[in-house]
Amino acid sequence: APTRVGGSRGDGPQLVVLAGPTAVGKGTVSTFIRENYPEVKLSVSATTRSPRPGEIDGVSYYFVTDAEFDRMIAEGEFLEWATVHNSSRYGTPRGPVQEALDAGRSVLLEIDIQGARQVRASAPEAVLVFLLPPSWDELVRRLIGRGTESSEEQARRLTTAKVELKAQNEFDFRVVNNKVEDAAREVVDLMNISARPAPA
Ligand code: 5GP
Repeated sequence: APTRVGGSRGDGPQLVVLAGPTAVGKGTVSTFIRENYPEVKLSVSATTRSPRPGEIDGVSYYFVTDAEFDRMIAEGEFLEWATVHNSSRYGTPRGPVQEALDAGRSVLLEIDIQGARQVRASAPEAVLVFLLPPSWDELVRRLIGRGTESSEEQARRLTTAKVELKAQNEFDFRVVNNKVEDAAREVVDLMNISARPAPA
């Protein structure tokens, strides 16, 4: 079971933030939730980074220009936004989140730790979940194993990860990402959803 750290939440639809260090598997867990728990609304972030092969605009992210991102900030369209890994900007559009909550659906935000802190400040009722690797060695293995970053970038992300792991005490729950389906289930269980994953 996830480790409860603090806070208390009522019944009804929940705004849940899933954060954690680089390469812990946040993306894999949220993709598993999208594919197996359709009753959960996954927020689609806007980003200024370029799409990777296979990423679809409007599904993985809304891929926007710097100018469009600036406009969204100026118009107050973001629930939170941050510059991540010193490069691109990422933000959660607030409209779809509010609409889903109003319609009685729980919403999952897969965002970085700076973003989680902003959500805590602006939506104190949000449930903050910190995804942990089974061990430090396993985190290193996952980062190197996915092979999407240069060795220079890997080193930079591991330095960030050490700092990020210290933020776990600010979160309401800790979930260890050992098996993706178990971690996903633990996250979904925090949303007052009794559904089981759809059969494969
Ligand atoms: P990637 O470029 O690998 O898809 O994501 C890089 C990082 O950006 C991940 O840590 C991810 O959680 C974070 N991220 C994605 N969307 C958002 C967002 O809307 N807000 C914030 N603050 N971080 C985000």
